[in-house]
Amino acid sequence: MTTRHDVSGVPLQGGYVAKQCPVRAQNDAIRPAEPVHPDPFTERLFANGNAFEAGVVADILTLHPAAISVHGADADAAETATTDAMSASFSLILNARLPSDYVHRRVGRPDLLVAAATGGYRAVDIKWHQSLTPSTNPASELPALCADLGSLVYETAAFDANYAARKSQHDLLQLAHYQRMLEAAGFAATGPRLGGVIGTERRVVWYDLDVPMWRTPSSTGKTKLRTTMERYDFEFDFRLDIVAVAQRHLVHPGAELLVVPVRCAECPGCPWNDYCGPILEAGSGDVSLLPRVGWAEWKIHRDHGVSNRAELAALDWRTASAVATGADLAGLRAAAAAFQPDDAILAMDSVAASVKQLAQLDALEIRTVAGLLALDASTARYSGSGLTSLPKEIDLARAAIGRDPVYRRRGVDQVEVPRADLEVDVDMENTEVGVYLWGCLVTDRTDPERTHSEYHPFVTWEVLTPERETENGVAFWRWLMRIRATAHARGLTFRAYCYNAGAENQYLRRLGLSADLVAETDRFIASDEWVDLLQIWDSQLITGGASGLKVVASLIGFRWPVDDPGGGMSMVRHDDAAAGDESARTWLLDYNRGDVEATHALREWMSSTVVPCVDELNAGIRS
Ligand code: SF4
Repeated sequence: MTTRHDVSGVPLQGGYVAKQCPVRAQNDAIRPAEPVHPDPFTERLFANGNAFEAGVVADILTLHPAAISVHGADADAAETATTDAMSASFSLILNARLPSDYVHRRVGRPDLLVAAATGGYRAVDIKWHQSLTPSTNPASELPALCADLGSLVYETAAFDANYAARKSQHDLLQLAHYQRMLEAAGFAATGPRLGGVIGTERRVVWYDLDVPMWRTPSSTGKTKLRTTMERYDFEFDFRLDIVAVAQRHLVHPGAELLVVPVRCAECPGCPWNDYCGPILEAGSGDVSLLPRVGWAEWKIHRDHGVSNRAELAALDWRTASAVATGADLAGLRAAAAAFQPDDAILAMDSVAASVKQLAQLDALEIRTVAGLLALDASTARYSGSGLTSLPKEIDLARAAIGRDPVYRRRGVDQVEVPRADLEVDVDMENTEVGVYLWGCLVTDRTDPERTHSEYHPFVTWEVLTPERETENGVAFWRWLMRIRATAHARGLTFRAYCYNAGAENQYLRRLGLSADLVAETDRFIASDEWVDLLQIWDSQLITGGASGLKVVASLIGFRWPVDDPGGGMSMVRHDDAAAGDESARTWLLDYNRGDVEATHALREWMSSTVVPCVDELNAGIRS
């Protein structure tokens, strides 16, 4: 996409705009309300990010005495100094400010510019988060092409088979921004477009920005894998258009804005959340409030005249299931006039694109032409939209606006939860550097009359280094394996539970790699003694809202022993705890104990509570 509007009056945009919500670019331009100040978690991210960056820059300057760090009295001076340094072929330029690109409306300040062996420069950014993740499935991962701080350059980078490169859309779109600026200034390295990220591992992870890796909608109504550069160009140009139209709107309020709020992962930390939130929650609530209904799904609903959860809930579930088969319902219904109402649906094979889809309709008990014509017309119009998740979304909308907080999913007669004689609930707390606390709640259920639980934290308050993290992690691991071995020796069943195994598994694998325990940790992760309670919850229950532990445990009446529990607040508290604040340490241990008690309470509730099924909500929900 290129811009469709006159963007020559749009202020120059930095490397963040393309990766942020498009509505944010619009709100920044029109300022429809007072933006809220960053919360303590966001402020902490900025402060720690800046401190980390300063530390890495200092290390690089020590390791590379020939590097130049750009200083300028103002933006123009910094741009001139950067251009001079690139023209003088410095091998490493820090704190750069690339020449402003007035044609394409870009400004940018990459942390590092690294000279390529073939001439020109590549951008590297320093990020206060991990850039590597333990490799589990190389075929579907980005290879970890790493260079250490002593060499930095792409040409000396080598693959680390133990890890995969983290696929962060935010980081990569920012690198693409700098790449375009280098190209516009005539200083881009020749050959493949590459950019690097230095995360908390303090290694440069190199990314090929021309590799297709982002699945996005295409004009054909299907999806297509696109490169980071393609993705960036689209997103950046879209935002230039948004800002151009917003500027016109300020002068001519009749000019319609290009975007409206759509709920996304960025909302909770966005300065416009207090403005967009009430718009999204008005009435029965915007469809984007539902889990996994993103911008693509939101647009399909809007194109079909459905904008809120009540309208979505009122669609017909059975017709939606027919839509989900991919059958051309509109075409089949148009061709139905040539058949008798009693004709079998399978007899329409001469006009159907796929006999298999007719068989799927038949399996849904849409067995005759009359049955096909009896489908709900509003819902059938989704046919061809590609929205195979429509039946699930209808159920989510019904659950969200239904009377009960929790429902069973369709087909779930009774909620099943794997239990054991000896149960251990596990929850870890981490910062951007690694895990400093593994909290465990052991519950002995061998005597139903005298079930009791005990909390065991494995914690370090020292400055977190990879060595200290491993030491603490190994203490936890050895303890957990001892408990398990004891249970087995006594002829008892054993299970350990976490909530959302993705995070715990990643850190267990990281621990396995650093402590030479990979085989042990992998075996445990794959065993049925390690249970992801989120998966157990999500596969059987539905609320229409998020499934995070804080949300679902609150729905069943669980209360944390601390105020304002949350991962963001725990990171803020950890900074104080690491500095010696005893009350912060107590808060973190109480918070973590709350997490493991919550998973335990959730399991008890799921094992003992009967909730209605979402299919009982078929009738009576209308906008
Ligand atoms: S609150 Fe959400 S929708 Fe609104 S601008 Fe921010 S990220 Fe976008």
